[in-house]
Amino acid sequence: MFSGGGSATDKLVVISWNQNVLYPAGIPAEKITFKPTLRLPTGWKYGTPLPVENASGDEVAFQPAALMRLVDSPVVAGEYYRAVDITPAGEPIHHEIDLVADSAAALEMPPEMQKGLTKMVAESGMLFGARHYRDYHFLLTLSDHVAHFGLEHHECDDSRTGERSLLTPDGRRGVADLLGHEFVHSWNGKFRRPADLSTPDYEAPMRDDLLWVYEGLTSYWGPLLAARSGMWTAEQYREDLASTAADMGPGGPGRTWRPLQDTADAVPGERFGGRGWGNWERGADYYPEGDLIWLEVDTIIRTQSQGQKSLEDFARSFYGGPNNGPELKTYTFDDLVGALQAVVPYDWAAYFHGRLTSTSAEAPVGGIEAGGWKVEYTDKPPEGRGGGRFGGGLNAVYSLGLRLGGDGAVQESLVGGPAYSAGILPGMRVVAVNDRAYTSELVHDALKAGTKNTEPIRFLVVNDDYYKTCTVDYHGGERYPHLGREEGKPDLLDDIAKPLAGKNEAEPAGHEH
Ligand SMILES: [Zn+2]
Repeated sequence: MFSGGGSATDKLVVISWNQNVLYPAGIPAEKITFKPTLRLPTGWKYGTPLPVENASGDEVAFQPAALMRLVDSPVVAGEYYRAVDITPAGEPIHHEIDLVADSAAALEMPPEMQKGLTKMVAESGMLFGARHYRDYHFLLTLSDHVAHFGLEHHECDDSRTGERSLLTPDGRRGVADLLGHEFVHSWNGKFRRPADLSTPDYEAPMRDDLLWVYEGLTSYWGPLLAARSGMWTAEQYREDLASTAADMGPGGPGRTWRPLQDTADAVPGERFGGRGWGNWERGADYYPEGDLIWLEVDTIIRTQSQGQKSLEDFARSFYGGPNNGPELKTYTFDDLVGALQAVVPYDWAAYFHGRLTSTSAEAPVGGIEAGGWKVEYTDKPPEGRGGGRFGGGLNAVYSLGLRLGGDGAVQESLVGGPAYSAGILPGMRVVAVNDRAYTSELVHDALKAGTKNTEPIRFLVVNDDYYKTCTVDYHGGERYPHLGREEGKPDLLDDIAKPLAGKNEAEPAGHEH
């Protein structure tokens, strides 16, 4: 999937070399050298981390590269292309974002986003204290006609999003999160990689029991880079955490039968969601639940060390060392535990085993609580993702246990929730609410009215071509997750979301609070 999806339009292309090379079997991908050349449509420009040997006319000859490096270095090219330098002042290594889009207008990334990305690069340097690449290219494809995802590489990412993503605040907020995540992978995933995920060629199967580190820790640091670089506010960061905690708690009843470790182990045999049973299957929960677990690890370090240490100390030791260009240093579970132990003595192995094997109905919100906050539900829809209204659809996950598409199609019905118990299930479509043709507004009206009356809400649903009425006896009103301040506890979350750069100016000796 991912780069196997749509990758070209009339105006642009993303070239993934693995789809274009033939190579001999049985030789490690490090030991096969390619000398790639590329001929582009007249006038097109391109971006890639691959060093260029020479370019003339529409033909580009790249320097020889090992198959492993080639496959790790896609190219974006297009008629509408723009490269923006985002190297922070004083940073010796070049960073840029290469934009290709289906229109010239879509390339108009505002100056504040350039500033934010430059700060993100600076913050990554503060976090890890080292880089392991020659230079870094954010490759961003802006098109409504290609597959949308983010994919990590060592010296670039391959992120693809809607054509007008850079033109709205919501779009830019999403891009900041996506780019932060893929960027972190240069350290956590490409430089340091679980030993059994590191294979000598593309035929050997990978084993993925440590994806809760590879993706989970990246899911913790990605949004933090967005917040620390000012592209997210502290409140947006908290709202995101609240949504994650709710998704993993009441929004994910599958956690009562499926431990987190199993969601990582099952990846080779699994497609990601899409059938409407995600809350019971859990899909790729090692991403969002990893976010909560690593926040908890960070707060444990801060608490155990009386504020002398943080997860940054682990980052600098585990991902540090000299920059020899793109290099791979593998690790095991024991290496990880040892590195944490060196930061702060704690029974890390027991902690992780507990989190990875738990079938508790409760999400691991210890990090949020140690951070001075708690998950609360109010009738105020959250900003951004998980909002009350999206594309005409309905998000009533934490009230009715129901999410509907704009056409009333049941996208999610929480197993054991009020809608589920009334017989409303994925594959069905809601056609009427209290005897009137379905709109999401009607459901919101009924939820509000339900707090003051004792009438159940009647949903007329169609299942294939059979109609039935389901009555949902629910009177709790609208409910959306937020974080509320736990008075009396220090606000560690606020401290965690602050830029590291500012802290070091204030405290030249390091973070000693
Ligand atoms: Zn990732």
